[in-house]
Amino acid sequence: MFGLRSFGEVVEVASSADANYTFIPKDWTVPADADYLHITTNNTIYGTEIRKDLDVPVRLIADMSSDIFSRPVDVAKYDAIYAGAQKNLAMAGVTIVIVKDDALGKAPREIPTMLDYRTHVDKGSMFNTPPVVPIYSALENLRWIKKMGGVEAMDKLAQQRAEIVYGEIDRNKMFVGTAKAEDRSLMNICFVMADEYKELEKDFLDFAVSKGMVGVKGHRSVGGFRASCYNAQTIEGCNALVACMKEFEANH
Ligand SMILES: *Cc1c(COP(=O)(O)O)cnc(C)c1O
Repeated sequence: MFGLRSFGEVVEVASSADANYTFIPKDWTVPADADYLHITTNNTIYGTEIRKDLDVPVRLIADMSSDIFSRPVDVAKYDAIYAGAQKNLAMAGVTIVIVKDDALGKAPREIPTMLDYRTHVDKGSMFNTPPVVPIYSALENLRWIKKMGGVEAMDKLAQQRAEIVYGEIDRNKMFVGTAKAEDRSLMNICFVMADEYKELEKDFLDFAVSKGMVGVKGHRSVGGFRASCYNAQTIEGCNALVACMKEFEANH
């Protein structure tokens, strides 16, 4: 967002910054003369998600880096969707862009060749040397998603994983979810120790590691815990985290 300000006028239509980004604001309007509305469908750091396709009166552009292929998306509603592949699809190094032809070439000034999607369309995504291993890994994952039943199946799995983990967060007296229930992300489940147990945060992280669970620490900018449940996460993995939380509770 702040980066964009160097390139043009940005109007932030809504924000829950005052509430530490714990919910998705519902009352907002897009200025009628806006060129487009940009949204990030899943807030990877704070764990909120817009898990539906918005109807807006202007062009809609979405960063779907952390929830693409986790649900069916009405692609026609977006002028452009972009996503780094490294969360739900492949390893770092490749970015997916889905863009409408008539959304291209609208920048009212010179932009660097590399940043103009027309360059990549014209060159069949081979303007620069393609990173073949990440692309191949994306191919294999797309095949796997198809075999599993497509994005509908990914959606069901995401719901199941989230139910398991949020269910335990809500049941366990030692933990509290940070995002407002209706806006909870199915991809990044953020939680903290309940106030009475705040001093046990590090103990829980160490305990989780001792049970073979790494990466439960929240994003470095927010702390707490984050259970990332991308497509590759299994139901068994979620059950293992729940078992770990239950055991930690029993120990205290
Ligand atoms: C991870 C992520 C990014 C950043 O991707 P990088 O390739 O690390 O720059 C951007 N947007 C969202 C929504 C993300 O989850």
